Amino acid sequence: MPELPEVETVANGVNARIAGDRIEDLWFSSKPEPMKTPPAAMAKALTGRSIERVRRVGKHIVFDFAPDPKREPVQWIVHLGMTGRLVVVDPGVPRPPHTHGVLVLHSGRELRFVDARRFGRMGLHLIEKAKDEAVELPGFRGPGTEPLRISKVDFRSLFHKRRTSIKAALLNQSLLHGVGNIYADEALFRAGIRPRRMAARLSTRELDRLHGAVQKVLREAIRLGGSSVSDYVDAAGERGFFQLRHFVYMRTGQACLVCGTPIRRLVIAGRGTHYCPICQH
Ligand SMILES: [Zn+2]
Repeated sequence: MPELPEVETVANGVNARIAGDRIEDLWFSSKPEPMKTPPAAMAKALTGRSIERVRRVGKHIVFDFAPDPKREPVQWIVHLGMTGRLVVVDPGVPRPPHTHGVLVLHSGRELRFVDARRFGRMGLHLIEKAKDEAVELPGFRGPGTEPLRISKVDFRSLFHKRRTSIKAALLNQSLLHGVGNIYADEALFRAGIRPRRMAARLSTRELDRLHGAVQKVLREAIRLGGSSVSDYVDAAGERGFFQLRHFVYMRTGQACLVCGTPIRRLVIAGRGTHYCPICQH
């Protein structure tokens, strides 16, 4: 499942290719699962819109459009789910199976949403106006807190009363949005904290270390284009490289890159969890 760095890589790749382009036409498949908003409503709201920017919010990809005084301000929101992909291609490229949405662009290219397992979603977000003026509110925010922007103090307060394991708390998307299994394991390793420790029992110093480790791991992964495990690829169909930097994730039984001890695996919150019994306390 794509996590924050992969979603950011896809969003940046799509933005670089289609910002400034205009949506001429839309096509949606007949499969109901990917449609958070009925296809007819999406087509009506989006046709003719100029794409101003494509960016990541949490694990969602948000399409911002140039203001249009005659129409309601909207955003188009895509969630990749487990296997969703957004690709920008020439229209002559055959549409692969499991294509669920196509934006036909003024430039002649197409943005396609392809998702074999259909856990991904496409939908509209209506931007509310502030009560007294014609000021637009910031639009789609998604659940939870953005891990790359959260302060040390806010990070501590998210976790210091949680009576669950720190691994489960890191995976809780209503707390931090976008940190999944790979980056939770890698951040805990870099912070030297065992995944089974209860979040509420971590010291301030440990939480501060974890805060730094989460941000560092996510930034490094974004720089390397995400982790390609299973079938993740970015908007150009390229694979990421962060998997080459994994210290613990999916390295069960292999030597710890720091101390040489075999990496162990256990299951927390239903997820395979990888750690070094020597480097993490
Ligand atoms: Zn170790």
